Amino acid sequence: NEPLYAVYGASGFGREVLPLGRESLARAGIALDRLVFIDDEPPMPQVNGHRVLTWQAFLDEPAGARFVSLAIASGAIREKLSNRLRDCGVSPWDIRAGNMVQLDDVAMGEGAILCAFVTLTSNIRIGRQFHANIYSYVAHDCVIGDFVTFAPGVMCNGNVVVEDHAYIGTGAILRQGKPGQPLRIGRGAVVGMGAVVTKDVAAGVTVVGNPARPLLK
Ligand code: UDP
Repeated sequence: NEPLYAVYGASGFGREVLPLGRESLARAGIALDRLVFIDDEPPMPQVNGHRVLTWQAFLDEPAGARFVSLAIASGAIREKLSNRLRDCGVSPWDIRAGNMVQLDDVAMGEGAILCAFVTLTSNIRIGRQFHANIYSYVAHDCVIGDFVTFAPGVMCNGNVVVEDHAYIGTGAILRQGKPGQPLRIGRGAVVGMGAVVTKDVAAGVTVVGNPARPLLK
């Protein structure tokens, strides 16, 4: 049986990711009816020409192997769903836009989604299930944790550490750190859109503005 490929999440971001997966399958000569969406609440039976299956229907479909890309912006949901993949013997599927740029010595964990115009420069470590939305970049010597999400146009300069489950909003700028003294975005922190981050952000904190400051609730 032929392998089956899926993009999990048939909403906005999933519809942006699926064509990138389609492009890489087409390059590999894989028939496009082997590419489906998975959604726990299918919005329609078909979206943009591809079937939308529930998780169970995806598992029931005959296939020699199964590959799934998690196209859901919430890192917490990606962690939950990546456990579901592992428990069912389904492989994570990395999806990279054909025009993304990657330079020297970039190590990346499973399941990343790298959208169009993403740039990863040199000597970078990235964990599992990273999302880099359109036009984001990661510069030299950065260390990115697991389940980290970059919205569109994030500018992550050199020597920055982004811990697990952090979410960086559209157009945010992370100031470069120093070798051995990185700028650090703590676990589960949220950087608001357009924020200019000039110093460390503590775990779990939301920062906004220029210079970025903790959001007063
Ligand atoms: N979803 C799902 N299982 C989950 C969480 C979300 O199938 O555990 C689906 C949800 O039904 C929706 C999509 O994933 O269709 C997520 O879309 P959302 O609008 O939250 O986010 P975006 O597309 O902006 O990432």
